[in-house]
Amino acid sequence: MNKKLRAAVMAGNWKMNKTASEAAALYDELIPAVKDAGCTVVTCVPFTDIAVAVEKCRGTNIKVGAQNVHFEKSGAFTGEISADMLVEAGVEYVIIGHSERRQYFGETDETVNKRTIAALNAGLKAIVCVGELLEERELGITKEVIGRQVKIDLFGISAEQMKNVIIAYEPVWAIGTGKTATAAQAEEVCGYIREVVAGLYGSAVADGLTIQYGGSMKPANADELLAMENIDGGLIGGAALKAGDFSALVESASR
Ligand code: PEP
Repeated sequence: MNKKLRAAVMAGNWKMNKTASEAAALYDELIPAVKDAGCTVVTCVPFTDIAVAVEKCRGTNIKVGAQNVHFEKSGAFTGEISADMLVEAGVEYVIIGHSERRQYFGETDETVNKRTIAALNAGLKAIVCVGELLEERELGITKEVIGRQVKIDLFGISAEQMKNVIIAYEPVWAIGTGKTATAAQAEEVCGYIREVVAGLYGSAVADGLTIQYGGSMKPANADELLAMENIDGGLIGGAALKAGDFSALVESASR
């Protein structure tokens, strides 16, 4: 089974939650709880928590990620953060194209592509999010939507760079709603993403690609989702804010 060859990655997306002091308190609970993880553990924190996250995670098995990155190297982009800034701050991972960025901040596949290229060029690992809206699923165009997103988001990225790419399949209707895709629905789309990547890069790259599922993943549904052949980990929102839930999810991915 190729699944065994792929790195299982469980990434928490803290979204706009936790001040620096609250983040420190969460790490105090999280660090001992995940220290024996058999998978990669990432926490993607708000920019203002990066310093405390890097300090707390030094010498532990928890990696620090950000939730966005700008595509230009520097310049007149008020409020933005560059990939070099993240790297120098000690960040290793960055979420790109989360549906909340697409929905509320005008992200498009074209900007997702530019951000992904900038992140990879700076040496970051990119967690690129794709996912269909409820209306798109109901119209029966999920695969078309996902295929288009994957192709545009990865445009111009080399096979070598794909070693630093993770794709997170996050059906928009399942994010923060309590509605989870069934394991069969999630597996169908994650398998399709792997097919699209195989078409672009060949089967060796596709077989080695970590694909996460995200959307109301919680301890009660994680085992079933993570048992699927094409689901190699999770991108976790709400449940990543509680050390007990997140460590239970990490344990599921470690089995
Ligand atoms: C997310 O933010 O990427 C996410 C999947 O959120 P939740 O787990 O809360 O649905």
